[in-house]
Amino acid sequence: MSDISLSLDFSRLTQTEEEGAEEIQERDLIIIGAGPAGLTAGLYAGRAQLRPLILVGQSFGGQAATTSEMENYPGFPEGIGGLALAEQMASHAKRFEAEIAYEEVTSVDLSTYPFVINTYGGVYHAKTLIICTGTSARRLGVPGESKFIGRGVSFCATCDGYFYKDKTVVVVGGGDSALDEGLYLTRFAREVIIIHRRDRLRANPTLQRRARANPKVRFVFNSVVEEVMGEQTVKAVRVRNVNTNEESLIETEGVFVYIGLIPNTTLFKDQLELTTDGYIVTDKRQRTSVPGVYAAGDVQDPWFRQVVVAAGAGAAAAIEAERFLAEKAFEDQAEEDEETKGE
Ligand code: NAP
Repeated sequence: MSDISLSLDFSRLTQTEEEGAEEIQERDLIIIGAGPAGLTAGLYAGRAQLRPLILVGQSFGGQAATTSEMENYPGFPEGIGGLALAEQMASHAKRFEAEIAYEEVTSVDLSTYPFVINTYGGVYHAKTLIICTGTSARRLGVPGESKFIGRGVSFCATCDGYFYKDKTVVVVGGGDSALDEGLYLTRFAREVIIIHRRDRLRANPTLQRRARANPKVRFVFNSVVEEVMGEQTVKAVRVRNVNTNEESLIETEGVFVYIGLIPNTTLFKDQLELTTDGYIVTDKRQRTSVPGVYAAGDVQDPWFRQVVVAAGAGAAAAIEAERFLAEKAFEDQAEEDEETKGE
């Protein structure tokens, strides 16, 4: 981890313009993102009576909500759906007065204090901020992929699997997501063809065993998808064997892309320290390079990417935010007392 300065230097912080102040909502804590990290941060901050506002953006539940069956979240021995878990987390947070708003953040300014958060709906000032914007599915970037999104190309088996009853679908990727979601698709599809660019899967051994044992699953190794083809909807993928360069067509009606994730950090570029891959750099206490700004979950974690880890990080970030606010209130009071004494 890089060495990031966490000293509280408020001298460089300027007050935001008062213009249009009646529309500005002041908050002790704003949480951007409502995946497991954001919702758990909301629960902890709610219990600390910070009345946090969670801004949901485009996707409630984050990547977890696109996971059909989660078998490794503690406390659910029978497994639980990702969306169902996110809904439980949200009602838990709301029980402690966390507010959840479906507002997408358009820009943030972390160079002023309080921090400024602009959404399509308005402007917020936040004394602390927890960023839980997660990751988005990486795309193949091949011809036909964008054109057929919603017409055969999907990044969410849980959302779209049902439409492929008795059909042949392909899944691209060799990681946990590809196998997990490929197995989920076997509930509907007649055949699930997993296309992977190497001859070895990245997925964990349990998933590999389950996928290999499933008669509906077939693997096409050492191969990459070069084009998604069709008319109104997907009809086939053009596949190239990376060893022989031989090309072939695989007929399919659905293409599920699971080739990894990219962090959603565009809003914070040039404002927070990011890794070369674009993840937010945090220390062990979820602190970012700007005092009072924390990050939790997949947006700062390229290693584990587990719901339970994200939830833990969200809790830690909320505890830190509460401490930051308490210390700041103490310092502000001491300053005020000093000034009164001098009068
Ligand atoms: P991942 O582990 O990064 O795997 C991505 C897969 O896509 C890899 O097999 C990779 O191939 C392949 N790939 C990457 N770029 C490609 C390209 N341009 N063209 C073709 N193939 C490409 O991503 P993930 O499977 O989405 O998993 C993300 C994280 O979530 C992981 O940490 C995973 O453990 C976690 N997760 C866990 C579970 C679970 O515990 N049940 C379920 C889902 C996800 P290479 O192997 O050759 O690199």
